[in-house]
Amino acid sequence: MAREHYGEHHRQISEGWIRASIFGISDGLVTNISFILGFAGANPGHNVVRLAGVAALIAGGFSMGSGEYLSMRAQKELYEYEIDVERRALEEFPVAEQQELRDLFVSRGIDEELADRLSTDLMRDPDLALRTHTREELGVDPSATGAPWPAAISSLGSFAIGALIPLLPWLLTSSGNPILWSLILGAIASAAVGASIGWFTKRGTIRWAFRQLVVTSLAAGVTFGIGRLVGTH
Ligand SMILES: [Zn+2]
Repeated sequence: MAREHYGEHHRQISEGWIRASIFGISDGLVTNISFILGFAGANPGHNVVRLAGVAALIAGGFSMGSGEYLSMRAQKELYEYEIDVERRALEEFPVAEQQELRDLFVSRGIDEELADRLSTDLMRDPDLALRTHTREELGVDPSATGAPWPAAISSLGSFAIGALIPLLPWLLTSSGNPILWSLILGAIASAAVGASIGWFTKRGTIRWAFRQLVVTSLAAGVTFGIGRLVGTH
């Protein structure tokens, strides 16, 4: 039973990762399409828009990555501190801790005799005891308190992927109509991101694709308008 629980925990974490990456891509996409169109609205020339888009990609990516790192690190250290408190409590007050576990089982509907036996058994193995206590009291497994570095890198990476999509026409060509291509690529990517969110939340892929498209268009439209106004004055 313990092992089953353990596996489930990890599966949820990996699913959470994919979800976080999709939101990261969405962040990068909305940020940079607005940024690029805001600049393009003022018509400052191809090179300026391209430079602005590259700067926004780098600045946004590092901001997302460092933010993720710091918040994960803080959460991990807090968990580790609390796990340490629990570890000491188990060493110093084993009887009280066993009773705590027993009461918890009883409160979940296990009859007293069985709860007594279960909690006594669990307390015999220090590792299992710690895992059970921290999972019940903190909702976290001592071996899975979060990984700040991978989280930071994936956050930076997913933002950069999203930010790169509307920037591609500005990087690849210097003629033609890069604004139009930014919009076309941005719209396709938005719909794809929205559909993935819909698929994850099981709330309808088409509705979510449309929703994301509206949000992205709104952001891009507003900044383009502001760019036009401010740029021509
Ligand atoms: Zn405890």
